Amino acid sequence: MAFFGDYHTHTIYSHGKGTVEENVIAAVKRGLKEIAITDHGFHHMTYNVRKMDWPFIRKDVERMREKYPMIKILLGLESNFVSLKGTVDITAADMKYLDILVCGYHKFVKPERLTDQFGFFLPNLLGMAEKRMLVKNTDAYIKALEKYDIDVISHICHAAPVDPVEVAKAAAYFGTLIEVNNKNIKAKTGLSSCTDKQWEKVMETDVEFIVDSDAHRPERVGHFEKAETLIERVGLPLERVANWNRTPVFRSHKAKEELLRAAKRSAADGESK
Ligand SMILES: [Zn+2]
Ligand SMILES: [Zn+2]
Repeated sequence: MAFFGDYHTHTIYSHGKGTVEENVIAAVKRGLKEIAITDHGFHHMTYNVRKMDWPFIRKDVERMREKYPMIKILLGLESNFVSLKGTVDITAADMKYLDILVCGYHKFVKPERLTDQFGFFLPNLLGMAEKRMLVKNTDAYIKALEKYDIDVISHICHAAPVDPVEVAKAAAYFGTLIEVNNKNIKAKTGLSSCTDKQWEKVMETDVEFIVDSDAHRPERVGHFEKAETLIERVGLPLERVANWNRTPVFRSHKAKEELLRAAKRSAADGESK
């Protein structure tokens, strides 16, 4: 198998062990053509990127682009859900630094409001009211996909119950990729947070996938072995994996523009009738 790039890696700017340069060198050694640096979003209580570091990370990436022209380096962020309303810990001002936006549910995140601590994070953490939370979490995912130009949903089903099929339908509509996250797959069982049955159902939607390492150490960059085994087992066609032998197209922004144009056209058609 030949994966074109790794679009979810961490560095010392958040929870990773290596520098941006070390991740880039590791990616070049693995033969990747692209790498994204996607540290944890601002609201994570322990592993967050600090706002004050943001311009420096951008500069760091720019420097590495000049030093390693053989690989394309993208700056991203793995943003966190902060509310049941689908709010994510990123602003329009932050977005200007970004080439790619990854978004995932994480525990131990500062909520938007106190009510989200008690109505969102705590019940998910404690596994309370699982059926009710599944509906609420799924709704939060779909609202986030609608509100933000999210390119990749990372490790779906991890740490909070969701309906991955409904999320995948919305992701397909808004031009977002669903990640097969190598780190999220248990070494012993080969199972991810989604069950194989759920992956099979997700495959019945029109969504596209992306395979990432979620490396927290440079030596894990570009390692997709567990994801490859899962892909084979559930029969995910490689032509639906956006970074398999091709440059993935991150089109969430474009997809929203197209939807807006289509809505305007149908409104204009309605008026002229
Ligand atoms: Zn994550
Ligand atoms: Zn991550």
